[in-house]
Amino acid sequence: MGYHTHYVVDGGKARIILNVLVTPSEVMDNQPMLDLLWRTRFRWKLWPRHVTGDRKYGTEANIAAIEREHIHAYIPLPDHDHRTEFFSPERFRYDAWRDIYICPAGKELHFVQGQSTDRQRRYRAYVKDCNACPLKAQCTTNKQGRSLCRSVDEEYLDRVRAYQPTEAYKKALRKRSVWVEPLFAEGKDWHGMRRLRLRELKRVNCEALMRAAGQNLKRLLKKRGGRHRPGPAEAISAFFLAAFDWLAHTLRRRGLFPSRLVQITQE
Ligand code: SF4
Repeated sequence: MGYHTHYVVDGGKARIILNVLVTPSEVMDNQPMLDLLWRTRFRWKLWPRHVTGDRKYGTEANIAAIEREHIHAYIPLPDHDHRTEFFSPERFRYDAWRDIYICPAGKELHFVQGQSTDRQRRYRAYVKDCNACPLKAQCTTNKQGRSLCRSVDEEYLDRVRAYQPTEAYKKALRKRSVWVEPLFAEGKDWHGMRRLRLRELKRVNCEALMRAAGQNLKRLLKKRGGRHRPGPAEAISAFFLAAFDWLAHTLRRRGLFPSRLVQITQE
């Protein structure tokens, strides 16, 4: 029993929460990422230059979709080097012109149609090359020789790997851990985020939205109030005043607000 709260946060100094979604805990973190991103873009008419997330969000599907929209995906990729004792795919160089891989021993791995799927293309070295190779113990135990899979979206993954040494990428990740992550700590320590008060998905989503609105309001008040830091009572009254103002404005625009009440308010 549990939930995950997802925030989409603007990377500016104000750290405005742009979107919130609560999902059941069995939903993987990476699954709602694209929906959240597209909705945020549509709702606030934004065209972000880059998006940042931690390793959990860095699935192939997410990265390819983000890059296809000409947004830089500053998301860490899985570290294959430490997953296996053999040479990781990063040790093999892809030659796009010839559509082959070159292995660390300088031999070629060719595309094998019969062992490929719609999403993955398989490349295999010649058996005679591998069997005569002094590096075979570090590369494979397969008698058929070493093989590699290349995703059809590998071009996008390569692009993301190329971002990793850049200062812009490092800065975005630093900023995320220092500016964005504390919003969750703030929510947990100050606004009861550790334990939801309501039950059922739609209700906990309402609760999370209210909490995020409160966090945004705090920043707004801080910006307007200069040096004065509002106490809890002032913050609550300011929140209700702002909510009432917004409601009155909406109702008035739609012609649903009682005119007498409008007059009284105006007086
Ligand atoms: S085992 Fe085969 S693929 Fe691996 S380094 Fe040697 S020749 Fe290259």
